[in-house]
Amino acid sequence: MKVSLIAIAIAVSMQANAATDLAAHAWIHGAKDCTTNRDPAIEVLQFDAATYVLRQNKCVHAEAPFIYVLFGEHTVFVQDTGATEDAAAFPLHDTIQGLIAQRMARSPGQTLKILVTHSHSHRDHTAADSQFRGKPGVTLVEANAKAVRQFFGFTDWPAGLAKLELGGRTLEIVPAPGHQDGGIAVHDPRTGWLLTGDTLYPGRLYVKNWNEYRATIARLEAFSSTRAVSAVLGTHIEMSAAGTLFPAGSSFQPREASLVLGGEDLSTLHKALQKAGETPQDINLGKFVVAPISGLQRFVGSVLKWVGGL
Ligand SMILES: [Zn+2]
Ligand SMILES: [Zn+2]
Repeated sequence: MKVSLIAIAIAVSMQANAATDLAAHAWIHGAKDCTTNRDPAIEVLQFDAATYVLRQNKCVHAEAPFIYVLFGEHTVFVQDTGATEDAAAFPLHDTIQGLIAQRMARSPGQTLKILVTHSHSHRDHTAADSQFRGKPGVTLVEANAKAVRQFFGFTDWPAGLAKLELGGRTLEIVPAPGHQDGGIAVHDPRTGWLLTGDTLYPGRLYVKNWNEYRATIARLEAFSSTRAVSAVLGTHIEMSAAGTLFPAGSSFQPREASLVLGGEDLSTLHKALQKAGETPQDINLGKFVVAPISGLQRFVGSVLKWVGGL
């Protein structure tokens, strides 16, 4: 798919009434026939003057991950690089440079560095790292456990919190293994967002390490109870507004569920995991489904039956 920067610019839309509009926002969601799809490769939603949410087009990659871009006074924080490496098909670096150029035009003399980190190391969140690696003004924290722990200064993983200063905006980083060993969650005090990656989003929450995942959700729940959390935001939508899972790998998801979950959803998940105990098991909580990877075959079978009527 060829996408011009003009198309990207047009795709940027302002959201005046922040949290409400983000919850109600209908994202680009692929197409029945991707050969005729004219949506941009990347939808860019401006949440406020210094905060953007990007979504990859499902016709470029069915995973269609979300990417978060948070501006501070000296650093632009980019969480994840999406599912496609090819800059022609998926011009993520150029898109973010475009957002920086818009900001610099409003604040001449400002110098902004790009910091790229990852919610976790899976390929659908790291594929375009090569668009950033070695570029001027870019720090890319490689998506492996050693680099992540070193960069944030975690010495007793998964215990402890880290702070990340963007300039007038200090993020907090919470270790979040379970879906993947090097997973992190990020809290942004400016928006009140808790970014949970693939640990919690409206869809299938694949759990690789059950007890680490339970501990992570307990940690996030305790953390959230002492912070202002306006929204819990993950990196996919796989659920319809009607509460059914779209088929895995779907490149067309009409009438998607909201991206936005809340602190109450985190509490619901926490309670369910505590009740479940140490035995990995599928848990359907309506807005999302916990799916231990060891039970995947069984789960896929039941989902196929479940979505059979779609
Ligand atoms: Zn993942
Ligand atoms: Zn993912």
